[in-house]
Amino acid sequence: MSLLSSFKSLRLEGVSRDFGVVNALRDLTLEIKRGEFIALLGPSGCGKSTALNCIAGLLPTTRGQIMLDDKRIDTLPTEDRGFGMVFQNYALFPHMTVRANVGFGLKMRGVSKAEAAPRVEQAIRTVRLDTQAHKLPGHLSGGQQQRVAIARAIAIDPPLVLMDEPLSNLDAKLRLEMRQEIRRIHQSLGCITIYVTHDQDEALSLADRIVVLRDGTIRQVGAPEDLYARPAHLDVAEFMGFRTRIAGRVQAKDGNRVQLAVSGTTLDGVVQEALTGDAAIAAIRPDDLVPVAPDAHGIDGVVEAIEYRGRDFFGQARTKGGDELFFRSEQRLAPGASVRLGAEPHRVLVYPGA
Ligand code: ATP
Repeated sequence: MSLLSSFKSLRLEGVSRDFGVVNALRDLTLEIKRGEFIALLGPSGCGKSTALNCIAGLLPTTRGQIMLDDKRIDTLPTEDRGFGMVFQNYALFPHMTVRANVGFGLKMRGVSKAEAAPRVEQAIRTVRLDTQAHKLPGHLSGGQQQRVAIARAIAIDPPLVLMDEPLSNLDAKLRLEMRQEIRRIHQSLGCITIYVTHDQDEALSLADRIVVLRDGTIRQVGAPEDLYARPAHLDVAEFMGFRTRIAGRVQAKDGNRVQLAVSGTTLDGVVQEALTGDAAIAAIRPDDLVPVAPDAHGIDGVVEAIEYRGRDFFGQARTKGGDELFFRSEQRLAPGASVRLGAEPHRVLVYPGA
């Protein structure tokens, strides 16, 4: 049992990491409570892996400290932190059985065979590989190999499990199944899981809280529902699937309700981030922007592309001014056709413009 396993929280206090002139992480401050599943989400190069590697001890921090309760851990070598790690290329030993792979970490830590055996079996049961434990990794499916990597990480009884895009090598169906597995394993362990991904769906479905990073800084931290409905900044909205972004000028304002002049018409929306002037940008999800009758209020565009997605169609149009509009349609509209698109005002989020 790790000395650190009865901890209550992990705190990052002003953690920064520079690579020469690149500030990969800038002053990251965050408290994570025991039992939480945290997703670090952001575009490529935003610092997700750097943050995870600093927590794991694979990279030293440039400034700041990492605390597990009141114990400073960023000064400890990786092996003394005792965290479980699952990475994209889960690097199992091909010549060792599942059981031997799972027990490897314990062996390296000098845990006796007698003590290790029940822990290995427990980890194998947790990931539901009991019937495969005697096999070599090469004889397992991708999802099963992934589960061996997870079992290996949890066998050492880690206070923290760190995962860096662990599902990116799997096909779509397996990814969905493994998401549920990972969530279930997290719940059965009751410790902290920190999960790096650039996939918003994965973050939304797995995490208790999502930390959105950009250029090495935290842009927003919140429950999936909050981030989905109320992204605090335009770049977070962009990342949360608000694909249509139209620049406009504030024409009327009543509390946080605003009317913007956009593309030859007006658009009503809700201010999400305090406006600093007249210039604003409205952000709308494709599902909330739909064709309306030609005499109804809406934004005019010309359809550029339309694609069937099962229940309905996903369309792309462009205004005269060149703004791109992404919308949902019940009907297949022909490219080149004119379309008028409208959205409920509470679905139109308004951010400061340039
Ligand atoms: P991805 O999703 O593509 O893996 P990420 O969000 O995990 O990206 P990081 O790998 O943390 O991003 O990189 C953050 C920044 O630090 C990037 O600008 C990257 O180029 C830089 N960086 C990362 N590792 C190094 C390194 N060893 N040397 C120099 N620069 C680095």
